[in-house]
Amino acid sequence: MAKSEKQEAIAKILKFFSRKRFSQEELKKTRKLAMKNKLKLSRLRQFYCQSCFSQLKGQTRIGKKERLLYKTVICRKCKHPNKFKI
Ligand SMILES: [Zn+2]
Repeated sequence: MAKSEKQEAIAKILKFFSRKRFSQEELKKTRKLAMKNKLKLSRLRQFYCQSCFSQLKGQTRIGKKERLLYKTVICRKCKHPNKFKI
């Protein structure tokens, strides 16, 4: 029972992030759903701003630190630099 609930949550979350547009309110609901089911968004985090939770669009830069490559996306709304490992 609990397992199918979790799978349903995963399906909902993946469907949500495959959309072209989403609002902050919808994102908050989706994050709650993930937390409730103890799901990690990991790679899906790069679709939204870590600071203002809006859809992440903006300038992308690729950087290198030691041997790690990372990507920085500057949020168009709040200018927060979002860093992701790639
Ligand atoms: Zn932002």
